[in-house]
Amino acid sequence: MDVLTRIEELREKLNKAGYEYYVLDKPTISDYEYDMLMQELIKLEEENPEYKSETSPTVKIGGEVLDKFSKVTHSSQMMSLGDIFSLEEVDDFVNRIKKVCVDATFVCELKIDGLSVSLRYEDGKLVLAATRGNGRIGENITSNVKTIKSVPLVIDAKEALEVRGEIFMPKASLVKLNLAREANGEELFQNCRNAAAGSIRQLDSKVVAKRNLDTFIYYYLGDVPTQFAALTKLKELGFKVNPYAKLCKDAQEIKNYINEVAEIRESLPYDIDGVVIKVNEIKYHEIIGNTVKVPKWAIAYKFKPEEVETKLLEVTYQVGRSGVITPVANFSPVFVQGSTITKATLHNEDYLIEKDICEGDTIVIHKAGDVIPEVVKVVLDKRLENAKPIRMIDKCPCCNSQLVRYPGEADYYCINPNCKERIINSLIHFASKAAYNIENLGEQLVKLLYNEGYLKNIVDIFKLKEHKDELINLPKLGTKSVDNLLANIENSKNNTLDHLIFGLGIPNVGAKVAKIICEKFNNIDQILNAKYEDILTINDIGEIIARDFVAFFNDEYNKKTIAELKELGLRMDYPTIEINYNSYFSGKKIVLTGTLAHMTRDEATAKLNQLGANVISSVSKKTDLLICGEDAGSKLTKAKELNVKILFEDEFIDLLKE
Ligand code: NAD
Repeated sequence: MDVLTRIEELREKLNKAGYEYYVLDKPTISDYEYDMLMQELIKLEEENPEYKSETSPTVKIGGEVLDKFSKVTHSSQMMSLGDIFSLEEVDDFVNRIKKVCVDATFVCELKIDGLSVSLRYEDGKLVLAATRGNGRIGENITSNVKTIKSVPLVIDAKEALEVRGEIFMPKASLVKLNLAREANGEELFQNCRNAAAGSIRQLDSKVVAKRNLDTFIYYYLGDVPTQFAALTKLKELGFKVNPYAKLCKDAQEIKNYINEVAEIRESLPYDIDGVVIKVNEIKYHEIIGNTVKVPKWAIAYKFKPEEVETKLLEVTYQVGRSGVITPVANFSPVFVQGSTITKATLHNEDYLIEKDICEGDTIVIHKAGDVIPEVVKVVLDKRLENAKPIRMIDKCPCCNSQLVRYPGEADYYCINPNCKERIINSLIHFASKAAYNIENLGEQLVKLLYNEGYLKNIVDIFKLKEHKDELINLPKLGTKSVDNLLANIENSKNNTLDHLIFGLGIPNVGAKVAKIICEKFNNIDQILNAKYEDILTINDIGEIIARDFVAFFNDEYNKKTIAELKELGLRMDYPTIEINYNSYFSGKKIVLTGTLAHMTRDEATAKLNQLGANVISSVSKKTDLLICGEDAGSKLTKAKELNVKILFEDEFIDLLKE
């Protein structure tokens, strides 16, 4: 492969990974893999300066600035940090600095694995909090940051002041959050950093407040002689400052600090991914200078992830409630970063092929972002002769029916509605907290009742009362627990329709989607009659969800289930909001365009619906009003051509207030 092709390949990979990491908060490669690709690209660009580019990920900071928040221009650029990965490189860094500033000293700090934040205070009050964004422009997250307990809302300083630091999620909070997400059937956060970034960029500050975020502040943008003095000043002002900062005079002291930190890393209550080494004297920062992306007076020493070799024992296949088949690597137990693990998901067929996994392979395991075990690679040197590649199965491991892979999807599905594992998992899901919330009907009891023949589908749950006397005699059940269970089942019938829709286990329909759909279609009859096009008109609902949703309710078996549940007295409606028909917006056909700074499109739509308006997607002669946010495009042009009344966001907000 020629150099330019490799450079382009690396840029493409890094841009994709950057998007997944910064924008989606859902990385698909490990930080170490990303860093290694970045190092290779930096080297190739240095060796071949003719291929340097202003848009290369080597010169870009962070990801895109999300439109859902208003934008903030930073007073001075918020930079990234250069990386080093070995102790020899510490010598190189110190030598480079001492060549220019002979008597420079260094401050070593923990590199907190979170996301940067800038806090601006005026008259002693917190007036603005912003993410780093692309370094020059960040997102305004003030109301969310105000929910973080360690951020002082008021400080004892009259002059305008800016400080910068890291927002992070403590390890224990991530464990708690992921447990709750698991119970709710939501995707788990891979690590503390993604959880912190995902949480702080929630639109609802009340949700942020519950996420238990924390901060360490390390930059003081006022007048101080040294970084060490800055940390002291920050502490005096009431900011939370990490206690592990250390003043070092040479490379040896820095290396000792790194080794000490490596020893305590695991026991810290928050995640760190390295050590930051900064020149202590602020006067030297200007002399040493910056690149477009990083300060040259600081560097990040990054820890390598702990990787462990183990032997693949077998690949088993799990059947999910939707019938999705997930290959799982079962390996000899290994101890990685604090716990013993024996299994890691292999996701799907594409992943099996990409990792080139063969029977009996020796594999390398690490914990992606310290939480989820992941197979990093196969040790090819240790591959057995004639080892057979492991591929996806074509029959369900539980019921042996033919598996199906839909075009454009990576997963295989068992589509047999009578498959035992599917049924058990779908019943467990239905009874779970986030779905129908039937207390006491957990995994073990579902399995017992299934195996005893009392529970073959969701309808059976509500017929259990017919078998009360028999249930009392089952192992581990007695009169009291059966009474409790039956009472819980009866109570659950009052759940609003969104709980039922989520509980049914429709592919791609999670709790949030179920709610959004029920907000539009308030009762089961409307849902049964909804067509693909009707579902697509709902903001946030795309073609795949609309397809799966309609297919589910067109299925005769599912229609019968709904009819039976209705007959059994389950609530089949979702409370409608009272509509105010006297508002300015009432009866008007309204189109939204551009980015609104004060609310999302969904929030604006919900408000308008409540005020009796009909929010539609495209501008025509029949449109009464176009509500216009920033960066509006063709809809604005068309509205002007057709003489449709245009309201800009400020006017819209004023009218809402009225
Ligand atoms: P970085 O995280 O490597 O280092 C810079 C950041 O460190 C600063 O912006 C600051 O927020 C933080 N920091 C923490 N403690 C600090 C302290 N005491 N002093 C100063 N700064 C401190 O760089 P980045 O630009 O934020 O992110 C790039 C890194 O993110 C990559 O090296 C990689 O590890 C990760 N990444 C991973 C993927 C992926 O797909 N896995 C994709 C993109 C980026």
